[in-house]
Amino acid sequence: MTLQELAQNILNACRRVLGTEQIYLNLPRFEHEEFECVQECMKTGWVSSAGPFVTQFEEKLKEITKAKHVISLVNGTAALHLALKNVGVEPNHEVIVPNLTFVGTGHAVMMCGAIPHLCDIHPDHLGLNANQLKNYLAQIVSKNGDRLLNKKTGRIISAIVVVHMLGFPAEMSELLAVADEFNLPVVEDAAQGLGSFINKKHVGLFGRCGILSFNGNKIITTAGGGALMTDDDELAKRVRHQSTTAKVPHSFWYDHDELGFNYRMPALNAALGVGQLKHLPTYLSKKRQLSLKYVEAFSHLSQCEFFLERSGTSANHWLPSFKINGINRSQLEFILDFLNKNGIQTRALWSPLNRFPHFKDCPQSDLNVSLNFADQVISLPCSPYLVDRMPEVL
Ligand SMILES: *Cc1c(COP(=O)(O)O)cnc(C)c1O
Repeated sequence: MTLQELAQNILNACRRVLGTEQIYLNLPRFEHEEFECVQECMKTGWVSSAGPFVTQFEEKLKEITKAKHVISLVNGTAALHLALKNVGVEPNHEVIVPNLTFVGTGHAVMMCGAIPHLCDIHPDHLGLNANQLKNYLAQIVSKNGDRLLNKKTGRIISAIVVVHMLGFPAEMSELLAVADEFNLPVVEDAAQGLGSFINKKHVGLFGRCGILSFNGNKIITTAGGGALMTDDDELAKRVRHQSTTAKVPHSFWYDHDELGFNYRMPALNAALGVGQLKHLPTYLSKKRQLSLKYVEAFSHLSQCEFFLERSGTSANHWLPSFKINGINRSQLEFILDFLNKNGIQTRALWSPLNRFPHFKDCPQSDLNVSLNFADQVISLPCSPYLVDRMPEVL
C-alpha cells in the first residue's frame, strides 16, 4: 500500500463513522442544564471563589470518584503544582515524569523549582513503564537516610507523577510497588481520566493524591478548571488553605500565614461544571460507542492499531487514538495533513517533553517508546454526540 493509499483508507474509515461534513477534534456542547446552573449562579451573585456551586461541584465529584476530599481549582496545572508542593517536592529536587504527556505535567514540576526526570512509557497503556522504572531507579539512585539521591546529579528524587494517558488507567499496582520500594510518594495526573476506574476504584485515588482537569478539551469542561482529590485529611486541608491565598479565616482582618496562591475555581465555572456533570454518564457511554465504531471501521487496516481497555480497568475513552505501525514522522505528517485538509480534524499525540528546549537537558532514561509513539499515533474526533450521526454509506 502506498502512503497516499494508506491516508485515503484512513480517511474512508473516518468517514464511515463520521459522515461527510467537516468534523472537529472536540467541540463542547452545552444544554439547558448548563444554562440553568450558570444563570442561577449569576442571579445569586456568588460568582467568585465562594458560594453554593463550588460546594455542589465538589460534592458531585466526590460522589462520582468516591474521593474523601475534592478541592476545585483554577486548572489542572495549578492542581498539580499544589499536589507536588504538598507531597514534599522542593526546589532543586527531581521528579519522575513520563516523557510523553501534556506539557503541563512537566511545567508543574518546574513551578516547584524542581527538575523533571523523564522516563519512558509502556506501549500498552501509554503510562509509565513500571518494570523499566524499577530497573532504572535501581541503577541510578543511592539511599541517604530516607532520601533518594540521583548518583549522577547528586539531587534528591522526591516524587513520581503517574499520568493516565487518554483516560487509559496506568499500571497502578506495579507502579505503587516501585514507589514503595524506593519510598517515593505518587501523584496521579488524572487530568484526562474522569470516569476511568481500575477494579471499580477511580483513577487519582491510588497515590497520595490525584488531579483532574476541566479544560475545554477534557471529557467535561468548566471552561477552565481543575481539581485535586485525596483521601488524606491533612493534605486536603493544606491544599485548600494554600489555594485561597493562605488566608486565615476572619470576618474582617486579612491574615495570611504562608505563601498562598489564588488557585480556587470561580463559582461561575463550578456552575458550568455542575451542569456538565449531569451528562457524564451519557458522555461515557457515547464515547465508548464511538471508540468501538472506530475500531470496527478500521478493522481491515491491519497496520492501524487502536489502544484498548485492559482487563480489570474501565477507561473513559476520552480521545480515541490509534498507532500506525512502521511509519516515520514525515509519513505521519503526510497523513495528518491529508486528513485535516479533507475535513477530519486530527492530531498527533503530545510532543515528547525532551524535544522542548526547556526540557532537553533534563535527566532522562531510555525514551524509545515515547519517541516512537509520538511519531506514529493519531487522535481522532471525540465529541460524544458524534456517535449519534447517521453517516451516508460511502
Ligand atoms: C489537560 C492536562 C493537564 C493540565 O490541565 P489544565 O487544566 O489544562 O491546566 C495536565 N496533564 C495532562 C495529562 C493533561 O491532559
